Amino acid sequence: MAREPVSDNPIKTASCKCCGSNARATSVLASRIGPYSFSYCDDCAENVDEPAEMVNTMVRAVGGVENFLGWKPFGSSAAIADQVNVFRDGAYIPARLWLSEAQPQ
Ligand SMILES: [Zn+2]
Repeated sequence: MAREPVSDNPIKTASCKCCGSNARATSVLASRIGPYSFSYCDDCAENVDEPAEMVNTMVRAVGGVENFLGWKPFGSSAAIADQVNVFRDGAYIPARLWLSEAQPQ
């Protein structure tokens, strides 16, 4: 599901919060998993990426990895961990897989 930009104003200087690369962010989008918005490059926006720090924050907020992996948003039959990706080592990794490989602090 495509997300609508929070702002129509193009971001001129911010880098992408998700991949952190030199790619210039072009949109500000709401997180799919919590009440925050971040600057996104086009690739991360298209790949429904979430900043790794945001995933870790929500893991803590819901009481741990196990709870996060079972968390289904209201009205959805799929777990959010299967709907969002984290950018690591040049690739988009499903949050479920990333959490199984790298447990958050
Ligand atoms: Zn990006």
